[in-house]
Amino acid sequence: MKKTPFVTKEQLDRIVEQYPTPFHLYDEAGIRENARKLKAAFAWNEGFKEYFAVKATPNPTILRILQEEGCGTDCSSLTELMMAERVGFRGDDIMFSSNDTPAVEFQKARELDATINLDDITHIDFLQKCAGIPKKISCRFNPGGVFELGTDIMDNPGDAKYGMTKEQLLEAYSRLRDLGVETFGIHAFLASNTVTNEYYPRLAKILFELVVEIRETTGVKIDFINLSGGVGIPYTPDKEPNDIMKIGEGVRKVYDEVLRPAGMGDVKIFTELGRFMLAPYGCLVVRAIHEKHIYKEYIGVDACAVNLMRPAMYGAYHHITVMGKEDRPCDHVYDVVGSLCENNDKFAIDRKLPEIEIGDLLVIHDTGAHGFSMGYNYNGKLKSAELLLCEDGSVKLIRRAETPEDYFATLEGFWNETGGDHE
Ligand SMILES: *Cc1c(COP(=O)(O)O)cnc(C)c1O
Repeated sequence: MKKTPFVTKEQLDRIVEQYPTPFHLYDEAGIRENARKLKAAFAWNEGFKEYFAVKATPNPTILRILQEEGCGTDCSSLTELMMAERVGFRGDDIMFSSNDTPAVEFQKARELDATINLDDITHIDFLQKCAGIPKKISCRFNPGGVFELGTDIMDNPGDAKYGMTKEQLLEAYSRLRDLGVETFGIHAFLASNTVTNEYYPRLAKILFELVVEIRETTGVKIDFINLSGGVGIPYTPDKEPNDIMKIGEGVRKVYDEVLRPAGMGDVKIFTELGRFMLAPYGCLVVRAIHEKHIYKEYIGVDACAVNLMRPAMYGAYHHITVMGKEDRPCDHVYDVVGSLCENNDKFAIDRKLPEIEIGDLLVIHDTGAHGFSMGYNYNGKLKSAELLLCEDGSVKLIRRAETPEDYFATLEGFWNETGGDHE
C-alpha cells in the first residue's frame, strides 16, 4: 500500500510562495467526509453524538467545521473550555472529561453547563464544594487488569491513572442520585490508537453489560454511554485503515444483544474521538535545509520535535513523502532530523527514501491530531503556523506562526526593564 498526500506538489509549490515552511496543513474536505461517515455508521442510534477531543487539534476553525458536521467537543482544561465556548458550544455540546481537575475548571464547566465526566469518586465531594452537583453527570470506569482482544493485549488499564473501580462506580451512582442527579452517563477509554474494527464493539459489550448491572444493583438507569476515543489510524503504509461502518455495525449488534432485551433500547451512544477525526487530514510540511554525511546519512529539515513531538516522545512512525519524487526508487537510507539539541529529535530513523536534495519539500503524514497541539518551546523554538486547505482549493491561515515576541511575552522584570521587547 502507498500513502498519498492530500495535497499535490503543484498546490504546495503555490502555498509555500505565500506561507513559508514549516506549517501544519489541514484538509477540510477530508475532515468533513470522515465526520459524515462516522455519523452514518452510528445513524442507527437516535441519540448518537461525537464529542471531538479538543486536545487533538485545538483550533477554532477546525472546531467550527466539526460543529457544522454535528459534533460537540470533549474538553479537559480551562482553555479548551474557553475555546469551545468562543466557537459557540454550550450545554449538551460539551463533554468535560478531565482528570486531576482544578476547581476553576469544574467551575467553568458548570458555568457552561457542560456534561461533567467524573474521573474519581472523591471528586463528588470536591465538585460539590467548588461548583455544586449538576442534574446530569457521567462517571469514568476503569476495569483494571489488561484489556485483551482475542490473544492481543491492547492496553493496560490497571496501570492507568483514570477512572473508578467497579465498586466505586456503583457507589458513586448511588451517592449522586441521592445528591439530586437525574441523568447519568458512563465513560471508559481502555485502549489508544487501536487499528482494528473490534475495539469499540468489545468496549461496548463491557459497558453495556455493566449498565444493565448498575440498574439491577442500584436502580440507576444510565442515559448515555460514552465510548470515548481510541479508534486509531494506520500510521504505517502496510496497515489497513479501520472501517467505521463495520465498527458502527459491531456496536449495534452488541446493543441489540445486551441493551434492547434489557429494555434499554433508548440509551444514547457518544464518542470522543480525536485521532480518528483529524490525524489523516493534517500533515506537517517541511523543507530539507541540510544534508550531513557522518556515520549515518542525515537530512536536516526546517522543523523539529517542537512542531511534532510524537516520534521523539513515543518513537512513533510518521510516513514521509518527498514531494515530486513519489515515483523514484527509495534507494537511500536517512535519518530525517530537526534542529533541537536533543538526539531524539528525529522525524524518521533509517528510513528508505528517494534521494533528497536541499530545498525539497517533505510532507510528514498524519499529523492532524496530537501534532501541532503537543508542541512546546524547548530550545526557544517557535510553534509553526496552521493552514487550512479549503474545500474549494483555496488556502486559509488559521493560526499564524509564533514570533520571538510571543516567546518573550510572558517574561516579567528583567526583560521589560531592559526594554528587550520594545523600542
Ligand atoms: C485523548 C482523549 C480522547 C481522544 O483520544 P484519541 O485517541 O485521539 O481518539 C478522548 N477522550 C479523552 C478523555 C481523552 O483523554
